[in-house]
Amino acid sequence: MIKFPARLKLAQTPTPLEPLDRLSAELRGPRVWVKRDDLTHCAASGNKIRKLEFTMARAVEQGCDTLITCGGMQSNHCRATAVLGAQLGLKVHLLLKGESGGSVPDGNLLLDYLAGAEVTHYPLEEYTEDIEKIFQKWQDHYRQDGKKAYSIPLGASDGTGVWGYVSCAAELAEDFQQHEIQADAIFHATGSGATQAGLIAGVHLFNINAPVIGMAVSDDEQHFLNKVRSDLRDWQQTYAMDVDVETLAIQVNDRYIGPGYSIATAEIFSTIRHLAALEGLILDPVYTGKAFFGMLEEIKKGHYDHCKNIVFVHTGGLFGLMAQSGQLGFD
Ligand SMILES: *Cc1c(COP(=O)(O)O)cnc(C)c1O
Repeated sequence: MIKFPARLKLAQTPTPLEPLDRLSAELRGPRVWVKRDDLTHCAASGNKIRKLEFTMARAVEQGCDTLITCGGMQSNHCRATAVLGAQLGLKVHLLLKGESGGSVPDGNLLLDYLAGAEVTHYPLEEYTEDIEKIFQKWQDHYRQDGKKAYSIPLGASDGTGVWGYVSCAAELAEDFQQHEIQADAIFHATGSGATQAGLIAGVHLFNINAPVIGMAVSDDEQHFLNKVRSDLRDWQQTYAMDVDVETLAIQVNDRYIGPGYSIATAEIFSTIRHLAALEGLILDPVYTGKAFFGMLEEIKKGHYDHCKNIVFVHTGGLFGLMAQSGQLGFD
């Protein structure tokens, strides 16, 4: 038995594992399944809520009344933190990358404001160079104000956040038993690292014999190998886990990033349209659409012909799609 640390029950879990049979028939390859982590909540849906169950438990345990975190303008992580903070009665302060631009907020940013988060925008350069200092500045500010703030790293990706996807892997082990299948590969979008670190640790702990393939959406393979390893080490050390994390294999595919983070090509948008109409599955242009497109390309190339069952972990991102609605070609 694995002893999980303190956790708040925030997410609607376990999420379903569903086959995409029309897509699989079209591919004439392995059967493709989707782990519906887009269904973990309504406004706080997606993968971040799984990590935040553990992160926020830690913040509450330490007596914190304020959460500070950071991310891009359309950060799913910041939106989930804002909504869950409101749900728990905690103040949330978001440090966002990039100037506000002055237009009416939409997508995730709209929900940040709706949930009453305090939002501070930083110019790209200042954010990139000084984010650690900016966190420290606000920590000091809240301390002087008689408050106690908890700083959540980008994407809640640290040793604590890793637990979120260790827990998802435990669900997957049960899903596979229930459906009487063996997964041959598990794909997901990787961005800040802890989803992959958690899945890798969990697959190891729960004896799932399938590689976890992180589809990079921003940086190159080496970046993710380092980041995922570092999250695994932090998890192992913080919780004194009896796992040799140095021997765990990390597999990253960085061939489908396209022009850059949050920028999707026309073929990504057409994949999003296709899956929505074919299966009622809504992907997003920043994470899941890119990762899913990459997975389909790899399957079409025959790289997974030896597989019977392939699992895609749908990590959410719906509100990011709304913020890019102009790109879908319906105008
Ligand atoms: C953050 C995010 C990811 C990536 O997860 P990480 O743990 O940051 O690597 C994937 N999909 C969506 C929709 C996300 O918001």
